[in-house]
Amino acid sequence: LGPATALDVYIVSGLQRQRRLSNADALTGAFNRRFLDHFLRHELARAARHKTALAVAMVDVDRFKQLNDNFGHAAGDRMLKHIAQTLEAAVRRTDLVARYGGEEFVVVLPESNAEQAVMRMERIREAIEGSALTLDKNRSRSSSPTMRVTISIGVASWPNDGESAQELIASADRRMYEAKKLGRNRTVGPA
Ligand code: GH3
Ligand code: MG
Ligand code: MG
Repeated sequence: LGPATALDVYIVSGLQRQRRLSNADALTGAFNRRFLDHFLRHELARAARHKTALAVAMVDVDRFKQLNDNFGHAAGDRMLKHIAQTLEAAVRRTDLVARYGGEEFVVVLPESNAEQAVMRMERIREAIEGSALTLDKNRSRSSSPTMRVTISIGVASWPNDGESAQELIASADRRMYEAKKLGRNRTVGPA
């Protein structure tokens, strides 16, 4: 493990909540894209300096349009929050979860190689697959119908899949699309 940096301390410190609010996506509470950019560049520089691993995962909700169509946009919003919370709860404190687009999230995993990142993301994929949200948020699980989704994930690692933030995200994105083509609800990493 490399030494903690100022940015690590800032992420995990007491300033976290305040910092988070100004760098957070309003709907899900995940970090926003601007902060992702900042964080990934910083972590890439650190990985290069200390010769440590770094992986990036692109997460896209499967057939999310269908969920919106079936249950409404508000239900879709609750599902996005649930996915963000599941991601946050499952990653390490030094990892970063960001909302990349509508129903897409990026996870940055410093000091994880591709294999480790695929294993971690697979556990998250299974957790999402196994979880259900009640359709009516005011009723208990036992008396309310539920909705479920799955996610498709692409993993890329530095430096094999790219040197820059842009290249790594593009590579993770291509593998996420590969996961879609292979039937969704799966994680695709380096062959
Ligand atoms: P695929 O498995 O190929 O990813 O199918 P998909 O339906 O998830 O993909 P598509 O890109 O066609 O649709 C994405 C949907 O995500 C459409 C859009 O309405 C929905 N979406 C994007 N942002 C939000 C949001 O903030 N809230 C809700 N409820 N829906 C959103
Ligand atoms: Mg998408
Ligand atoms: Mg989708």
